[in-house]
Amino acid sequence: AKINGKNRYEIYDARMSEQIREELDLKQSLHHALDNGEFILHYQPQVCGKTFEVIGYEALIRWNHPEFGLLSPYHFIRLAEETGMIIDIGEWVLQEACTQTKQWQMKDQRPGLKIAVNLSAQQFADALLPQKVFKALEDSGINSESLIIEITETMVLQDFDRSIDTLNQLRAEGIKVHLDDFGVGFSSLSYLNRLPVDAIKIDRSFINQINKDTTEVAIVNAIISMAKSLGLQVIAEGVEQQEHITYLKQKGCYEYQGYFFSKPVPAQCVSL
Ligand code: C2E
Ligand code: CA
Ligand code: CA
Ligand code: CA
Repeated sequence: AKINGKNRYEIYDARMSEQIREELDLKQSLHHALDNGEFILHYQPQVCGKTFEVIGYEALIRWNHPEFGLLSPYHFIRLAEETGMIIDIGEWVLQEACTQTKQWQMKDQRPGLKIAVNLSAQQFADALLPQKVFKALEDSGINSESLIIEITETMVLQDFDRSIDTLNQLRAEGIKVHLDDFGVGFSSLSYLNRLPVDAIKIDRSFINQINKDTTEVAIVNAIISMAKSLGLQVIAEGVEQQEHITYLKQKGCYEYQGYFFSKPVPAQCVSL
């Protein structure tokens, strides 16, 4: 029994160190990923429910790791935050997304095409953020009205007054701000009322409950009517089925994003 116990301990220990080593490996290679051009953006359409036209795209980062292949943000965003590398990576995302959008706008004569970019908490807290955003607009040549910044409630609540100031700076230039993953956080009417944003995105965990007759449906209804009473636009993410669209339309939500229309795809696979 003693030997078994020891073996078990060793296996456990080996697994532990393997996990730590993998994370260290990933951390190491993350340092060079930007210089090596290993990041790539995929794009997912946001669709108008009235005309079924593509309004714009959300840019979603992937890491083309030389050893592990294409990694989703879940595998490296936290690491990038911890190491502070998210600041440079985020700046690259802004530049790349805006540059790509300019190409689409010119090539396809769609000057109004929008691009949504996700920010991380650290990026949002960076005092230089507004300047970096304005520079991406300038360098790419897209209009400020084409750019949507996606932030989350948790990011805003870390320093509410400062967040309002940052958002005002962005919106004063015509940039749109959308509140992502809405419903999973604190979602209080009183703070939402004070927050200078243009739209909220209902989290997909609520959308995929729509035809299941659960309490989440009541939350979807509440979010839509709350958004309406505050004069905010409302976007549904994670739209996967026709039933979702039928329901959302009936409730007055007319902007959708999800696998029903397209998964996120590389720029060259985007069909406008
Ligand atoms: P998010 O901003 O909420 O992005 C939506 C996520 O839902 C994406 O995952 C997208 O692929 C996925 N999705 C879209 N439609 C559907 C659907 O119909 N069904 C299902 N099951 N999933 C759907 P992805 O690309 O893996 O990104 C995960 C998260 O990583 C994002 O969540 C965002 O928080 C973060 N992220 C992505 N790109 C960036 C970036 O450039 N910078 C930062 N800071 N974070 C990013
Ligand atoms: Ca997002
Ligand atoms: Ca989201
Ligand atoms: Ca989400």
